Amino acid sequence: MDKLKGLTDGYSDFHVHPDYSKDASGSVDEYCQKALELGLKRICFTTHYDTDPQRKKIDYFMRVDGKLKLLSFEVVKRYIDDVKVAKSKYLSSGLEVYVGLEVDYALHIEENLRSELAKLDLDFVLGAIHCLDHIAITASSEAHQYFERKTLKEYIKEYFKVFTQASSSGLFDCMAHLDGYKKYGLKFYGNEILSAHREFIEPALDALVKNNVGIEINTSAKRKGQDEFYPSKEILYMVKEKGIEVVAIGSDAHRVEDLGKDIEEAAKLVGDIYYQKNKIKK
Ligand SMILES: [Zn+2]
Ligand SMILES: [Zn+2]
Repeated sequence: MDKLKGLTDGYSDFHVHPDYSKDASGSVDEYCQKALELGLKRICFTTHYDTDPQRKKIDYFMRVDGKLKLLSFEVVKRYIDDVKVAKSKYLSSGLEVYVGLEVDYALHIEENLRSELAKLDLDFVLGAIHCLDHIAITASSEAHQYFERKTLKEYIKEYFKVFTQASSSGLFDCMAHLDGYKKYGLKFYGNEILSAHREFIEPALDALVKNNVGIEINTSAKRKGQDEFYPSKEILYMVKEKGIEVVAIGSDAHRVEDLGKDIEEAAKLVGDIYYQKNKIKK
């Protein structure tokens, strides 16, 4: 991961779902063509890697050759090889192509993930909390099942507990959408959710620092009706104070037309928050 630098320059989209993800459309090649059109310098594919055995019928898949296949080493290898072909193909056009995964984390699958990921040749491993108690809090069809059983405090406390475990696992270069719990939570719990992190975020940030894990700015929040990216400015300032690096910016595109969305604005935000003082001094 240390070799990857400059990913917050506004020309790098490091969270992209090609049609290997069950919920995405657009081939690796179509995304690369679009990246060239947009003038991007780097693109990293981060296909979903969801391996909770209790969700086997729901999201334990990758799409290969137009068909959903149960996740296996061979299936993931196909995806990786496909991106590697694009890596060579686009190098001379000035587009760097990286292969990554967005890995859904839960404590009970941590050891399996460790052995599975060790076998894969990946440039970038993005950790994500999409599920709590085996329910997808980031899916509109499921989130309410979890919310109806939990108070806001219980929800956010549990989210940060799992986020802290993920950040401490040693599995990830970067954690995705730090306050992604707002995605459907804002509508259900109201504005109180915007400050709910204050009581619970500290151990999560400490775990990021201790394990040298970065965070991303995920621009999809604004496309989902939120006023701010993930994470919010307030959290970004806390992240900066702790010395945690924003290592990447990602659109979290699930279709080609969303590639690179709001990447420049996010890059400006990182610049404003992290480097403004230096700039003024100059
Ligand atoms: Zn995600
Ligand atoms: Zn994603």
